[in-house]
Amino acid sequence: MSQKTNDFSKWYVETIQKADLMDYTPVRGCIAFKPDGYELWEHIQAEMDKRFKETGHRNAYFPMLIPESFFQKEKDHIEGFSPELPWVTEAAGEQLEERLALRPTSETMIGHLYSNWIKSYRDLPVLINQWANVFRWEKKTLPFIRTSEFLWQEGHTAHVDEEDARKETMQMLAIYKEVVEGLLAIPVYDGQKTPSERFAGAVDTFSIEAMMKDGKAVQAGTSHYLGTKFAEAFDIKYLNKENKHVHVHTTSWGTSTRLIGSVIMVHGDEQGLVLPPRIAPTQVVLIPVGPWKKNPKIIEKLDEIFAALKAKGIRVRLDDSDQSPGYKFNEWELKGVPVRIELGPRDLENQQGLMKARDEEEKVSVSLETIVESIETELETMQTRLFEKAKAFRSNNSHTHIDSMEQLKQHLAQSEQNETIPGWILAGWCGDDVCEEKVKEETKFTTRNIPFNPPVTKHTCIHCGKEAQHTVWFARAY
Ligand SMILES: [Zn+2]
Repeated sequence: MSQKTNDFSKWYVETIQKADLMDYTPVRGCIAFKPDGYELWEHIQAEMDKRFKETGHRNAYFPMLIPESFFQKEKDHIEGFSPELPWVTEAAGEQLEERLALRPTSETMIGHLYSNWIKSYRDLPVLINQWANVFRWEKKTLPFIRTSEFLWQEGHTAHVDEEDARKETMQMLAIYKEVVEGLLAIPVYDGQKTPSERFAGAVDTFSIEAMMKDGKAVQAGTSHYLGTKFAEAFDIKYLNKENKHVHVHTTSWGTSTRLIGSVIMVHGDEQGLVLPPRIAPTQVVLIPVGPWKKNPKIIEKLDEIFAALKAKGIRVRLDDSDQSPGYKFNEWELKGVPVRIELGPRDLENQQGLMKARDEEEKVSVSLETIVESIETELETMQTRLFEKAKAFRSNNSHTHIDSMEQLKQHLAQSEQNETIPGWILAGWCGDDVCEEKVKEETKFTTRNIPFNPPVTKHTCIHCGKEAQHTVWFARAY
């Protein structure tokens, strides 16, 4: 697959369509998730939800419509979101007294409610998560990555003090990193957003950032420390142990169906989708080959393997349709199924089957006696292999020796000429918004985050050359 921007977008959309993950609808920017696409989300949900609950959170549900006056209460919040809000202005044939927004996020509605729910220090912390759909009317859309309606989870917590709230913010970011790396096999850099890239209304925003195969970045999850800003706007106070009314400190954190887009863009290849085994709707496909219809023992054997895999909780399909094996191989490859097993009369005679991992060229022979164990091992090995491949790719395309705009422009010209991807740049930043803005203007590189553990520390600002306050990842981003 070519990594050039236009070709890559085309490859991405074709890959999704061939894998039958989604469909477009007549509503611009709103897609339908088909079962294989939705199941990817269900696996992400299950993994996240388990960890949320292990750390004391519970799920709740809040309304999708939010009164306009709620947005006016927090100035930065309305400024950040108002251009993207779709509004409901009439119902039952009548103009509404107050416009209602389709939620872009729920801080305001939840802030309003928390002011009633929280009275005393005994009510804290409040640890709530919501699984929901949200709306941001996007001009340029791309399935899963940027759509006008998308699915996500948003955690909203309230705490007695800053220390407790900050601990929560970091804990949730760590959970995101664990799930995205462990389940989706996508390596991420965790770090802090610069002030200009902060969530609208946050004191501090932290993110995990992932590199796609075209070198662009996807913000894969964010966790915000909101301080007392929303508590002041919505009057969320509690009586502390000293009998004083004080504001709570709140956090919010979210991940969305963008993660599905990231999986496709990180692991896909020329043949289409490649899914990490832990998230694949179908992990193993069994395909009879050769004159198998004349030999009922083949299907019998495959049925036996099918049952054994199923008993182990492995998601397996047996494709005994009347298509040719070549056609089936291609179809299941497009769907990104991690492991394929072929069994024909000759194989059965030799008591072996052929196993092919989606991301490897060669098929390998496996003994029928231990085939279930072989498959289990391969699923685990492939999961690790995909993570290591993505990590190697990221490392090859992370540049840490670019320290001036001149060098950056030279690097960009060179990658243009060689048709290679420009990747990410780790560079120093003085902390001035103007420098950040100028880098963006001149190169379309934006600050991704200030990594917690940068591979090297930078001492001068890439733009003005003055002393650097931070070492920052810069990249073009989705
Ligand atoms: Zn500077």
